[in-house]
Parts: sequence; structure tokens; C-alpha cells
Amino acid sequence: MAARIIDGRAIADAALADLSVRTRQFRDETGHVPCLAAVIVGADPASKAYVQMKAKRSVVVGMTSRTVELPVSTTTEELVDVLRASSADPSIDGILLQHPVPGHIDERAAFDAISADKDVDGVTSAAFAAMALTGGGFESCTPSGILRLLDATGVELTGKHAVVVGRSPILGLPMGMLLLRRGATVTYCHSRTVDLAAHVASADVVIAAVGVPELIKGAWIKPGAVVIDAGYNEGNVGDVEYAAALPHAGAITPVPGGVGPMTVAVLLEQTLAAAVRAAEVRACSENHDSRVGPDPVIASDRL
Ligand code: NAP
Repeated sequence: MAARIIDGRAIADAALADLSVRTRQFRDETGHVPCLAAVIVGADPASKAYVQMKAKRSVVVGMTSRTVELPVSTTTEELVDVLRASSADPSIDGILLQHPVPGHIDERAAFDAISADKDVDGVTSAAFAAMALTGGGFESCTPSGILRLLDATGVELTGKHAVVVGRSPILGLPMGMLLLRRGATVTYCHSRTVDLAAHVASADVVIAAVGVPELIKGAWIKPGAVVIDAGYNEGNVGDVEYAAALPHAGAITPVPGGVGPMTVAVLLEQTLAAAVRAAEVRACSENHDSRVGPDPVIASDRL
């Protein structure tokens, strides 16, 4: 039987429609328009297109966006300064540093220059620790969006074997952490993995997060497995051999129209949550209230 197609665009559109309502309500109540600042280093056309798309969506849901474009020659120190300045700017609620940055930049130092309360892309070391240990902070957007897609399929993750192919700090690594916290048994595969085919063939859930076109062959997929393809390669090609996987998988995401739209939805949801928290902290300090502001997740639940 052919796989059920997981329509990430439809799931994301529903999330964005709900977010528009909540953003309007927040604006009416506070007079503040949530703002997402995107910082991009260099002129990579794909990265620019991603940032433009995120900015466009933020406006559609009633937020503002600001894009800071820096030359490819930007040093780590200069980038850190820009991110610290954005972190200190009260008109900005969320900060996104577009990945990847040029190779000469210390990406970890740059990510960690983003203040935790504006880390709506979930890239700081603190966010990673929260994802791994306690939950409750801003989650890494793509993995968080993937969990939402998995939930939409109705698959029960507890006890399932999930194979994550890729271990980057923005995608594969946090993906495995979130799956582990949901009770899955997680195997990470990467460029040094021996016999990738055997690992994938034993998976109930496959997360492809590599960036190599059609690396994962359709014939490797265990019958009925849920396949999430986060890869995006030139020519709208994913990391999974889509047509060949269809007869084997129970459910599968298309490329495009799968993981990408959900990533943007989570980013904007977390931007509203950050704005809500900042507004509550401002209100507390205006009232000379010494209480600490609420946790971002609790705050976001109210809207
Ligand atoms: P990345 O930083 O380049 O990491 C790629 C990972 O794949 C690494 O862990 C690498 O292993 C592993 N890998 C490379 N070749 C492999 C092979 N032959 N077999 C097994 N593993 C291999 O990439 P990324 O930023 O995580 O992005 C991965 C893909 O997801 C890209 O196509 C990107 O465009 C896409 N992406 C999509 C979204 C979205 O919203 N849809 C968001 C982010 C990324 P090592 O660690 O051993 O080098």
C-alpha cells in the first residue's frame, strides 16, 4: 500500500492561522507588534531565500521583521557584537541567526551571543540543555516542527526505534534529544556510520537530516515506517529516494511541502511566546513587582 503523505504545508497553515489570531489579540492588549530579527552573513542565495520567506510569513501573521545582512568577511567578534546589540534591543522579541555561517566564524560563539529569552530558533547551548534535560525552553525549530508532523500521523513514539541520519547542532542532534524525551529508542547515524542501510532498515521512524540528495534508498525503508525528510537539495530533492520509498513507508513527508513550512510556523510561534514573556516582564517591572517573569512556555499557553 502506498504511504500516506504528511502534508506539512496544510499542518503549518493551520498553525499559522491560529497564530495570526493570537498575535492580533496580543497586539490589541499590549500595543506591541512582535518583531523577529534575522541576521544573515554572506550572500548565499538559498539562505537569503529562507530569510525572505520567514520575514514574509512573519508579516502575514501580524508581526514585523527586520533583516540584518552582514558581509561574508564579518568576523566572529563583529557578529557577536551585532547579536548582543539585538539581544539588548527592546523592540526585538526574537532573533534568528541564519545557518550556516561562513566557515571562518565560530558558529557556537555566535549562537551563544543570543540572549536565551530571544532565542526563538532554539540554538543556544542553554536551549539545547533544556531540550535534553528538562524541556520548557524554546525548542530547536526544525526538530520541534518534525515532532508536530509525527504527532499529526498519530504514531506513538514511546518504545519505537527512531533513526536520525545527521547530527548537526541545529537539526539532527536536538532531534534525537526530543525523540528520546518522548520515549523513543534513538540511533544517530552520520558520515562515519558503517552500514547506514542496515540502521535505516531497522527503524520505525526515519529522520533524514543530511543534505545529500536521495542518500536514503526507498528499498531500505521498513514496511510501515514513518519517514520524515528534512533534507533540501537543489532541484527540490530531499535526502530520501521519495518515489521508491512510497510503496514501503506507512507515512512520508514530501520535499518541498513537508518539514520546511512547519519549521517557519514553530519559529513564529516561539517569537510570539517571547513577545508575551517580554511584555509580562515589562509589566512586572512597571508595577515595581519583584516577581520573576513567567516561563516562556507557560506564557505562550495563555494566548
Ligand atoms: P549539516 O550541518 O551539513 O549536517 C549534515 C549531517 O549529515 C552531519 O551530521 C553529517 O555527518 C551527516 N552526513 C553527511 N554525509 C553523510 C552520509 N553520507 N551518511 C550519513 N550522514 C551523513 O546540515 P544541516 O544543517 O543539519 O542540514 C541537513 C539538511 O537539512 C540540509 O539539506 C538542509 O538544507 C536541511 N534543513 C532543512 C531545514 C528545514 O526547515 N526544512 C532546516 C535546516 C536544515 P558528520 O556530522 O559526521 O559530518
